[in-house]
Amino acid sequence: MKVKVNRGTNQIGGCITEIESEKGTKIIIDIGANLPDSDGKVKPEIELEGLTKGKPNYKAVFVTHYHGDHIGLYNKILPEIPIYIGEISKEIYNMVQTRLSKANFVEKKDLEKIASFKTFTIKDKIVIDDIKITPIAVDHSAFDSYMFLIETDGKKVLHTGDFRTHGQRGKAVLEAIRKYVGKVDCLICEGTTLTRDNTDVLTEFELQKKAEKIFKENKYNFVLCSSTNIDRIAAIHKAALNVHKMFICDNYQCNLLEYITKISRSRLYKFNDGKNTKVYRYASNMLDEMTDYGFVMLVRANPNFEPFLKMFNDHTFIYSQWLGYLKGKNEDYKRIQEFVPKDYIYLHTSGHATPEAIKEVIEITNPEYVIPIHTEDKEKIKELTDKAVILDDGEEFIIK
Ligand SMILES: [Zn+2]
Ligand SMILES: [Zn+2]
Repeated sequence: MKVKVNRGTNQIGGCITEIESEKGTKIIIDIGANLPDSDGKVKPEIELEGLTKGKPNYKAVFVTHYHGDHIGLYNKILPEIPIYIGEISKEIYNMVQTRLSKANFVEKKDLEKIASFKTFTIKDKIVIDDIKITPIAVDHSAFDSYMFLIETDGKKVLHTGDFRTHGQRGKAVLEAIRKYVGKVDCLICEGTTLTRDNTDVLTEFELQKKAEKIFKENKYNFVLCSSTNIDRIAAIHKAALNVHKMFICDNYQCNLLEYITKISRSRLYKFNDGKNTKVYRYASNMLDEMTDYGFVMLVRANPNFEPFLKMFNDHTFIYSQWLGYLKGKNEDYKRIQEFVPKDYIYLHTSGHATPEAIKEVIEITNPEYVIPIHTEDKEKIKELTDKAVILDDGEEFIIK
């Protein structure tokens, strides 16, 4: 069995990992687009023979979750190669991309490509020739995210994708690895926090409690967070309900939350059950009620939300996503910088595993080799394990 990280050994995001059996069956895990660097520049994208050009030479692409740095290059994959993603992830990604297509950021042919994605759920095992892939559900800032256990030639590899253990479902991640994975030969592990400052990582529940306090003390609350960070929205929603504030979203966000309510069996994600929980779909006839009773409203950095910030100018603004967006010079980042008021309150916690969580996964899976990816300092993994294998992009590693 061979492992090759085509990209992602020395950067956060843009991950493309390859697994090849002795017989020569090749699959890809994640097909991420590059994230902008600190100056906002995005490096040119790569082309891979047999994957994005030439004669197809890969049997399948498996996507861990719908963040652009893991799925962004889907439209470059040769049409003969199937792309697999979680069933709910596919629907959420489709909703987001459909919204973007209305603003002409996404082309119709790309929506058709998304419609062609094959899906799996937590109960599935997928067999691609002599390779078996088992998805393991994880906790991350994207809903319906997975690790993949990949088995071939009598060997086991666990590819973690992005994950964490300090979210609402964090503890279940370690239990699932214990139950469904156990010992592996090789662990391919995300290392985002090896360099990012991760002192005092809040749990999602602690964040909810802090939000509750802010909402209690302030009448008009706007919250900026990713529209697909469902666990964050669940925490904000719960905080709003606990202090009896109207929780308001626009149509797009409401549709997304209603979809999650419908498909999820967990009571964590019951946004609109028609009884105890409610999401208000914004309409202009609600303005009097909003003025009288106060509210919590989810916003995105776009001109549709600017009038609300002006209308309720004595508002509190909560910034609930990565602070890096407020620093970079990228065009998308600039939009956020112009939108966010100077006196924002920062209330966020990472979607990524702390070094302690990575250490726990290493202990449970007891691998012979640990390959760090999705990190800006791969050498730092050596502080957590003596089994580190430090690869460069494109370098092959054979698991004997
Ligand atoms: Zn990522
Ligand atoms: Zn991610």
